[in-house]
Amino acid sequence: MKQECSIVRDLLPLYVEDMVSLETAEFVRGHLAACETCKAEYQSLRQPPDVTPPAQEERPEAPLRLLQRKLLLKRVQTALLAGGFVLVVLLSAFAILSAPRYFPYTAQLLEVTEQADGSLTITFDQAVTQCQVESLGTQEPDNQSESYSIQAWTSPWDQWFSRSGSCTLTITPQTDLPVRVYYAQNNGQGDVLVYGEHPDGGMETLPRLVLGYYLFLAAGVFVVLLVVWCAAKKKPKVRQWVGRALPLPPAYGVGHLIVLGVTTVSYCATRDFILIVAIGALVYCLVLLAVRLYRLWRELRPH
Ligand SMILES: [Zn+2]
Repeated sequence: MKQECSIVRDLLPLYVEDMVSLETAEFVRGHLAACETCKAEYQSLRQPPDVTPPAQEERPEAPLRLLQRKLLLKRVQTALLAGGFVLVVLLSAFAILSAPRYFPYTAQLLEVTEQADGSLTITFDQAVTQCQVESLGTQEPDNQSESYSIQAWTSPWDQWFSRSGSCTLTITPQTDLPVRVYYAQNNGQGDVLVYGEHPDGGMETLPRLVLGYYLFLAAGVFVVLLVVWCAAKKKPKVRQWVGRALPLPPAYGVGHLIVLGVTTVSYCATRDFILIVAIGALVYCLVLLAVRLYRLWRELRPH
């Protein structure tokens, strides 16, 4: 028995790590069932040495204060994250609800009246809630007239909540040239001459494509950043900065998706661009905040 004990003791470390053959394991198991001394040895090997955490009083105060500060930071960042998220939702709702819906031209849509003082009054149908006039000067479409472009639209917000439309525009000619007024349908169809003599050829208000170029640019920047990020494997400083900039183009893309959807065509590019940038910036901040919070949360998680 004594000799078997010494063999088993030699084998125990390997047996604990499960690094012995099946036959050896069988042999050790058999011996352990019969020998109390070796069984005790086996159990002491199996349990890792007792690590008693240092008593509370022994801990210096600084780490505790640091922990408290981190917990506070976590709470503040969580609140910021929630607030930012609500802001993104509100801004997105505003962008969607106030998105203009233009009217295609019909004979009932508007009425042009000549006033005694030479000015023109344009009255729109009740469905129109917002309208706008823009002077095209005397250059468009030829040099023979003073031209104006008018457009009319409504929005989901206007339709659901406010205003019954009573939109009117007043045009006061600035020159002695004949006046022409074009109605911009903003749907890919040509503009309609609603007042004045027909010139040679029609006119069309072209959609602004600039937002499509911006989206394309954002995609390009993203690819470049990604390449730099991959190339700078051994430069943690560069990687850190590029990593911070990396979510910017996708955030812009999210803004674009919320404001314009999957199209890049816009008839009110300035409004759309401002909204895209605002939503994109918010989304970007939220991503950075979320990453920080995740790291903090992992750090504070009880081990
Ligand atoms: Zn034994």
